[in-house]
Amino acid sequence: MSIAVYISEPEPEIMSNTVPMWINGKIAEHAGARSGDVHSPATGALIRTVAFADSLDVDNAVGAAQAAFPAWSSTTAPNRARILNRFRELLQQNQESIARVVSEEHGKSVADAMGSIQRGIEVVEFAVGAPHLLKGAYSENVTRDIDCHSVLHPLGVCAGVTPFNFPAMVPLWMFPMALACGNTFVLKPSEKVPSTSMRMAELLKEAGLPDGVLNIVHGDGEAVDALIAHPDVRAISFVGSTPVARHIYATAAQHGKRVQALGGAKNHAVVAPDADIDAAADALMSAAFGSAGQRCMAISAVVAVGAAGDAIVEALTKRAAQLGAAEVGPLITAGQLERIRAVISEGVSQGARLTLDGRVWNGAGTGKGFFLGPTIFDGVTPEMNVYQTEIFGPVLVVLRAASVEEAIRLVNRNPYGNGVAIFTKSGGTARRFENEIEAGMVGVNVAIPIPMAFYSFGGWKASLFGDLCMHGMEGVYFYTRRKTITTRWG
Ligand code: NAD
Repeated sequence: MSIAVYISEPEPEIMSNTVPMWINGKIAEHAGARSGDVHSPATGALIRTVAFADSLDVDNAVGAAQAAFPAWSSTTAPNRARILNRFRELLQQNQESIARVVSEEHGKSVADAMGSIQRGIEVVEFAVGAPHLLKGAYSENVTRDIDCHSVLHPLGVCAGVTPFNFPAMVPLWMFPMALACGNTFVLKPSEKVPSTSMRMAELLKEAGLPDGVLNIVHGDGEAVDALIAHPDVRAISFVGSTPVARHIYATAAQHGKRVQALGGAKNHAVVAPDADIDAAADALMSAAFGSAGQRCMAISAVVAVGAAGDAIVEALTKRAAQLGAAEVGPLITAGQLERIRAVISEGVSQGARLTLDGRVWNGAGTGKGFFLGPTIFDGVTPEMNVYQTEIFGPVLVVLRAASVEEAIRLVNRNPYGNGVAIFTKSGGTARRFENEIEAGMVGVNVAIPIPMAFYSFGGWKASLFGDLCMHGMEGVYFYTRRKTITTRWG
């Protein structure tokens, strides 16, 4: 059976289709009785269902990964890299069709999906360099006739749990690095967007990946908890909201596992008085409202400094009022739409001033999708709920600060520390900001400073639990353990 049937255009008969698991190189029937609904956010229609794993399904997937580990970990690093290189080629050849799957289940435009898949492909490119990255270190004659060397060994079965907002890119942050380092993997993608991972598993098989090296189970917290508790799972990579990241970090550590858990965000853009207001406002359109603000690096708070204040609010409002459904896209579920509408109403009742109200928006026509227009609040203060919560929608709040120093203090008081940006024409201001700001990824005149694959991705404070970030050298270290050997030959 081909999984293509699960990713075709929504048609009436597809309603009965259920996205299955992927275990030991093939589609697997699931033992669990539960399933979930997958909706098209753009139309609101139910397009398919997805099988939810129970602990028996998780056991089967981990068992397949465990059985595949001895052969895969002893496959040479160059041969593992060759398979990943073929996978990279197949991803590129199929980028548009994968983007259509992403778009159908997530709601973002195909062009937006293409861009995020490209970032994922770049991680695969980095992982193809694993033979070089896994070389270890060698010191000769540390004392007479004694040499020291260290090598990087794989861990065993690793697991990944991913959010809805990047159905291809976030899984690609994880399993290519894990596999390149010699591990086997069980992925639990978001149950809201289950089909993209299935397509990637099929392409990896076509690239020559042996059965059992990558497995996929679907589901919710039950599947995740079974993975965390499983004695054969050595490490957990998680990306999602902060409350779940905290839970994963604490529980996985309790079970003795290595864990990296990336959480939520409230990403700020500081607009200094000397900023190029038009350039800043242009950059902030996509950063705040693209993909309906459902990006972990989306800018959701602007701190307007001094004289920049009124000018940036006016420029943002004017531009955002022109955005249509193609630029903004829908929210992921009807529940999110309802929740965010309520957060906006609460902001109004707490005294924040709406300069643009997305609740009354006709940019998406009169369809039944989960659309909310771009929304901008001015006059926001740090105690207000619109500032305190991660809204994860097309809502931008503007706070005012008298100086860049005050803006830095304000940003640093926020519990999150994922991405942050400053717009300024002053090198000195930018340098001070870089040094003093408490966030993992900093942009200077760059609204969304996503690190390239050969750097590592991850935030500070409540945006990351654990010590090692995704991809780059930290990805290599996360998925390996070091052994240091001391040798005497006279
Ligand atoms: P989520 O936390 O609801 O779900 C993420 C994953 O965890 C899903 O696979 C889900 O099935 C699973 N899950 C949900 N509840 C669980 C529970 N109680 N126990 C165990 N597992 C559970 O997140 P989401 O709504 O899918 O994604 C949006 C969130 O992800 C936002 O907060 C966003 O900031 C964050 N995010 C962060 C980054 C980053 O790099 N820091 C990247 C992307 C998304």
